[in-house]
Amino acid sequence: MERLTAADARELLLYVADRVIESKPYLTEMDRAIGDGDHGIAMALGMGKARETLQTLEGGSDVYRLFCEAGMAMMMSMGGASGVIFGTLFSGGAKGRSPSPALDCAAFTELMAGGLSAVQRRGGAHVGDKTMVDALQPAVEAMEAFPGNDFCGLLGAAEKAARAGAESTRNLVARFGRAKSLGERALGHMDAGAASTHIIFRAMRDFCVR
Ligand code: ADP
Ligand code: MG
Ligand code: MG
Repeated sequence: MERLTAADARELLLYVADRVIESKPYLTEMDRAIGDGDHGIAMALGMGKARETLQTLEGGSDVYRLFCEAGMAMMMSMGGASGVIFGTLFSGGAKGRSPSPALDCAAFTELMAGGLSAVQRRGGAHVGDKTMVDALQPAVEAMEAFPGNDFCGLLGAAEKAARAGAESTRNLVARFGRAKSLGERALGHMDAGAASTHIIFRAMRDFCVR
């Protein structure tokens, strides 16, 4: 795959939504260990709303509009820290762009990098703070370092980096979110938002290679 058309982007986002919704019990279990146990519920709710929006959106021939609307639907339905953070991941890099019927790998990488920047402007977290940024930033960096214009390769690299980043949160003490108050008791547990970020990149990779 060398181009992601708006039709592809819609399918991709629906596929991601389904994979996240399926992961609801896993993510909730994870957030129960060091948070308040609602991350899976919030993500499934937001992705369900994004799904509905994508299916009813008229004139969805602009890739950026699809990402923007999906993110806005999440933000409005989820509430809490993760509504803003994950809504911004999808919408932050898409907002204010001129409409585009298709993206190549460079444009898609820019879209995700814009999402990361917007998440960091909103939430202030950096790598090492035990948040979803620990999975997102390495994924974006892997995409920026990826040569050529092949979506399967690009998202394969992103998935690998996101997985390693999510795993790395086990060894971290939280500086953001609810796990912050746990101090060293959070050690050994993966951050739930980093886990869902990995699931999102894994789903995007699977969509391309399937
Ligand atoms: P809540 O903490 O409101 O219950 P969730 O459980 O749905 O929300 O989501 C928690 C996740 O959100 C965390 O695991 C973390 O990855 C992410 N998160 C929380 N605060 C921030 C932040 N400031 N920046 C980036 N990610 C954050
Ligand atoms: Mg929670
Ligand atoms: Mg909560």
